[in-house]
Amino acid sequence: MKKIQMVDLKGQYNQIKDVVNPSIQEVIETTAFINGPKVHEFQKNLETYLDVKHVIPCANGTDALQIAMMGLGLKPGDEVITADFTFAATVEVIALLNLTPVLVDVNPDDFNINIEALKKAITPKTKAIVPVHLFGQCANMEAIMDIAKTHNLFVIEDNAQAIGANYTYKDGTKAKAGTIGDVGSTSFFPSKNLGCYGDGGAIFTNNDALAHTIRGIVNHGMYERYHHDVVGVNSRLDSIQAAVLDAKLPYLNAYNKARQTAARKYNEAFKNIDSIITPKIPNTCDTLCDTCDCHVFHQYTLKVNGVDRDALVKFLNENDIPCGVYYPIPLHRQKAYMDERYNEADFTVTNQLIQEVISLPMHTELDDEQIEYITSKVKTFING
Ligand SMILES: *Cc1c(COP(=O)(O)O)cnc(C)c1O
Repeated sequence: MKKIQMVDLKGQYNQIKDVVNPSIQEVIETTAFINGPKVHEFQKNLETYLDVKHVIPCANGTDALQIAMMGLGLKPGDEVITADFTFAATVEVIALLNLTPVLVDVNPDDFNINIEALKKAITPKTKAIVPVHLFGQCANMEAIMDIAKTHNLFVIEDNAQAIGANYTYKDGTKAKAGTIGDVGSTSFFPSKNLGCYGDGGAIFTNNDALAHTIRGIVNHGMYERYHHDVVGVNSRLDSIQAAVLDAKLPYLNAYNKARQTAARKYNEAFKNIDSIITPKIPNTCDTLCDTCDCHVFHQYTLKVNGVDRDALVKFLNENDIPCGVYYPIPLHRQKAYMDERYNEADFTVTNQLIQEVISLPMHTELDDEQIEYITSKVKTFING
């Protein structure tokens, strides 16, 4: 059996070397390292794939979020609501821009922002909502967009974990994750579903004026060479990373499918075990069917019930199975983001999830032998 890894970047690279290497080589030969033709090519191809008017590449997913908020003209003191159960980058950029982060609880089944908690958190100072499409599936965008419309709020989708996922509306129409709100952001960190070989990110929008504003912000606030109209940043996707991404984009659907196939096998293996709760897809898609693309499994995250989660992690590690706890500490209890406004009683779900979640190896190269080994070890532990 191949050594089990949380993410198998080498195995994936070996499959696509013949496409990726010449793409990188081309950039080196032409020495168009910054803003080269590859960046533009990738931008256009991603716009087509996502069916969105504008993709603005940038340096990483954290910058993408920050720049999206700058582009919307949010001002210090504006309140921005986001989920308590996410990677810190989401709340970090809110705080960095002197906006006021307002953390709210999530759902126990899909781990995404809870709509009732979100409604409760709205005040006259609220200006934006940042739903995070956690672990590969969309938050309840239909409800979020309704709330935003009623209260005149911006919606910024943090789509670092769900690129390629479809959101299905109640009437059956679909849209790609990240293209539904005013603006969306993503990350091309190597382990993400579409990863480059370094850092990278992008911002998506269908709004022409916002796209124009953002294109200037990523480039020192310049709309005309050496004319700085607004305070910007330096945030570029470099051409070598664009070459990697452009070579990999045609594989994204197959990669997401491979993740879903692995998830389906895990689900099947755990289906009769009461103390294991497999990932739920509460959207309109409720089965992992062949055409289902509403969960792209950035992580495959179980909840355990009546089981010592940390002992399970230790047992799996001792058996050469890496696994992760995403996330072990809720943001509202992180030193940097604590606030006396927060009340523990408002975070019952997150407070429970941090004790129950465990993410198993999930990537495009998992084979049946590895899945069989992983699931059998989990069962061995559960059955004592
Ligand atoms: C990875 C990630 C980010 C940040 O992306 P970077 O490219 O690492 O800056 C932001 N939000 C979420 C939810 C993420 O998973």
